[in-house]
Amino acid sequence: MIIVLKKNISKKEKEDIISRIHSCGLTPHISQGTERTIIGVVGDERILQAKPMDGMKGIEKIINILKPYKLVSRDFKKEDTVINIKGRKIGGGDFSVIAGPCSVESEEQMMMTAEYLSKKGISFLRGGAFKPRTSPYSFQGLGREGLEFMKRAASKYDMLIVSEIMDAQDIELLYDFVDIFQVGARNMQNFILLQELGAIDKPILLKRGMSSTLKEWLMAAEYIMLKGNSNIILCERGIRTFEDYTRNTLDLSAVIAAKNISHLPVFVDPSHGTGRKEMILPMSLASKVIGADGVMVEVHPNPEKALSDSAQSMDFNEFDDMFSKLEGFKWPV
Ligand code: PEP
Ligand code: MN
Repeated sequence: MIIVLKKNISKKEKEDIISRIHSCGLTPHISQGTERTIIGVVGDERILQAKPMDGMKGIEKIINILKPYKLVSRDFKKEDTVINIKGRKIGGGDFSVIAGPCSVESEEQMMMTAEYLSKKGISFLRGGAFKPRTSPYSFQGLGREGLEFMKRAASKYDMLIVSEIMDAQDIELLYDFVDIFQVGARNMQNFILLQELGAIDKPILLKRGMSSTLKEWLMAAEYIMLKGNSNIILCERGIRTFEDYTRNTLDLSAVIAAKNISHLPVFVDPSHGTGRKEMILPMSLASKVIGADGVMVEVHPNPEKALSDSAQSMDFNEFDDMFSKLEGFKWPV
């Protein structure tokens, strides 16, 4: 349920409404808009049948939400969520680029990448130190050492770090290194992890699970937001279909739907979404056209030697070409 408060509501009326919500064992989530204040009420609302709130002073209207996601929906918050991380913004009309290698492999690799990307004006450096690999025999990431390499590179070139967390137990470790916690496709429904990330004060980039519906993806974001963290970036990274020419099927229609249904920023990862570097530019342009808030792409100083996702990683020349075309592309023309 969503309660829209009157513009001229008094402090006392507002307090009465909030305490009534608490007295029913429900939790109020307050969204202070430019025009109006809205309260999202979460919990088992059936109790309100016995204690209806309609007559309370200061309430303009009550909207019953039938959708399973509430806090992440545009019914709860009309305006786009803009995430401000140390002065760099994500969402709200800007198109941002997160770039870097699939895995952190060495300090030199991260230094070279950060130096190159920062010169292009890119603020967000990605790189996995904890890697969710299909095979237990594949490179699993450098762990803490990888985070240290990344941190030194990001600090030297004034970039922000995006890195994947696989286990709630690692939150404390990653917290000192990362600016945006990435939840990978394989962990999208790790509900304990989502809830714990909901209790921290850093943004979360939530990838769509490879077999998840739009609804399940938004419900995963709802898990995070319900615990108090509303700085969530949704990231479409392709889903499993019968098609095997591409690594996944990049579902751009889900991006349009997510933007319509939710106020959260939505990114696209065309690297994992297609698994093919020649598709990164066209899919990035398409992402811009459909109103995505940015893309996350894999770049490596020497993709042939990359320890993971070599085929979908661009080298600096390839990135150069793609980035200049993406930057120069305006839509609508
Ligand atoms: C990644 O970004 O390196 C990654 C493993 O992505 P995904 O979770 O989308 O497979
Ligand atoms: Mn990868």
